[in-house]
Amino acid sequence: MYSINEVIDHDVAAQIVEDFGFIAKVAEDKEGAARLGVSSEGEDPTELQSRSPVVTILGHVDHGKTTLLDAIRNTRVAAGEAGGITQHIGAYQVEYNGNKITFLDTPGHAAFTAMRARGAKVTDIAILVVAADDGIMPQTIEAIDHAKAAGVPIIVAVNKVDKANANPDKVKQQLVERELVIEEWGGDVIAVEVSALKGEGISDLLENILVVAEVAELKANPNRNAAGVVVESRVDKSRGPVATVLVQAGTLRIGDYVVAGSYKGRVKAMLNDLGKRIKEAGPSTPVEILGLDGVPDAGEFIEVADDEKAGRQMAEAKTQELQTQARGGGTLEDVYSRVETGEITSLNLILKTDVQGSVEAVRQALEKLNTEKTRVNFVHSSAGSITENDVTLASASNAVVIGFNVQSEPGARSLSRQLDVNIKQYGVIYTLVDDIESALKGMMEPTYKDVVDGEATVRAVFNVGRNTVVAGFYVNSGKIARDAEIHLLRDKEQIYVGKITSLKHFKNDVREVATGLEGGLTLEGFKDFEEGDILEPHRREKIEVK
Ligand code: GDP
Repeated sequence: MYSINEVIDHDVAAQIVEDFGFIAKVAEDKEGAARLGVSSEGEDPTELQSRSPVVTILGHVDHGKTTLLDAIRNTRVAAGEAGGITQHIGAYQVEYNGNKITFLDTPGHAAFTAMRARGAKVTDIAILVVAADDGIMPQTIEAIDHAKAAGVPIIVAVNKVDKANANPDKVKQQLVERELVIEEWGGDVIAVEVSALKGEGISDLLENILVVAEVAELKANPNRNAAGVVVESRVDKSRGPVATVLVQAGTLRIGDYVVAGSYKGRVKAMLNDLGKRIKEAGPSTPVEILGLDGVPDAGEFIEVADDEKAGRQMAEAKTQELQTQARGGGTLEDVYSRVETGEITSLNLILKTDVQGSVEAVRQALEKLNTEKTRVNFVHSSAGSITENDVTLASASNAVVIGFNVQSEPGARSLSRQLDVNIKQYGVIYTLVDDIESALKGMMEPTYKDVVDGEATVRAVFNVGRNTVVAGFYVNSGKIARDAEIHLLRDKEQIYVGKITSLKHFKNDVREVATGLEGGLTLEGFKDFEEGDILEPHRREKIEVK
């Protein structure tokens, strides 16, 4: 018996809710909510203007992602907007009811999460394509988990409704089982029935994208040096390196000196997705640029430097950073120390097992380890071998990959070394559970020594919102990493030690900011920044025990 003003825990609440025929969902954490859309933290709020949404299409193979992208692209011919032949540059924009929407042209969660693993946050909304004749399939589930891990809102496109054996209601039922309850059934997920092949339902889909975009209040400052992300790049025989850039903030102009990863150059020409030459491109606009001295990777940041000299320095710093960099997922050994410092309360896992039945068995065994302070959190779990996708997802969500009676694909192994992702494979469930328990309890606690990783100077202080103060800084040496412990020095005196709560390079959440670059950060429980303050990043380095 509970009285009306007693607090009940989540499990009890969930049970009661289920008895009434509903599904209980844990509310998204605040950080997750803040990740909606490109964040505008660190920007002067008065400079911010609305920008159009950037959309990625996800879903199982053959469910119609490519056909849907084509159908949407064709709407602009119908809108009499043609004026040029559509070029495949990696992204395109359509206009609907006077509003623009940008679509990324590489569908699928592999590309989506690969970008995230690089720290690039590009997508505002994910369209999940599910074929109504086939229903939810393994890659649909993967796509849902990848979108959820990114905190990106999902709109479901129930496709192929023209087919005789289409069963949209069954798809909706299956979505509910995946905790995606659609609006018409009382949930908050929009589902739109479409036939990509016949071009039906497309305007309904576009309309709903705009609805979700409006709620997300996407904003950017167009009046500053441009910054964005490389979406695609290649070498053209006659034009040299060509990169498609999605501008995320500022306005990119011909003549700007840009740095993309370790490459640089002056923008010689810009073309839009219709192959037309343009002179400038604002936030959310995809453009092809010519003038770089090499081909940067997709997912690489691109930004405008104040002048050529600064640009060269930035590119050089980036080259050095690339040589020493390890991005990393989590490792079991690290977990305890983070639990202890209060940094994490959950251990993110990606679980792959031999058969579906063992997914449930292992999950239940691990969930029994949950305590008030520590929890295991399954970012994704399914039957099948460990793939490259699992590794990129682990890297993007700071997770450990656990394999039970499964192999890892060769590509996944090498990628895990490259991204510094921990893969643990087991054949016996007790060993698996023991290991995770030890990690959570600290039996794997390693020994550390303190290392200073660099130095940055606070150059500007911004009041953002009621309680947030952002320090804009310049890295004089080394780097500022997201997980560093910051020692703040003023007149050589240490006045604060604590953690970073948010680290940005322009609008993007990043894992680190390297020498010669500028960034913005907020600190836990500290707001009294002054220009000239020194930020000293400390890191605990593991001492290998032999
Ligand atoms: P993707 O692998 O998700 O990109 O799928 P595709 O776009 O390549 O589509 C796979 C197949 O499904 C192709 O043969 C398409 O013609 C077909 N297809 C896609 N959308 C529809 C649709 O709305 N109705 C029907 N009947 N077929 C479709």
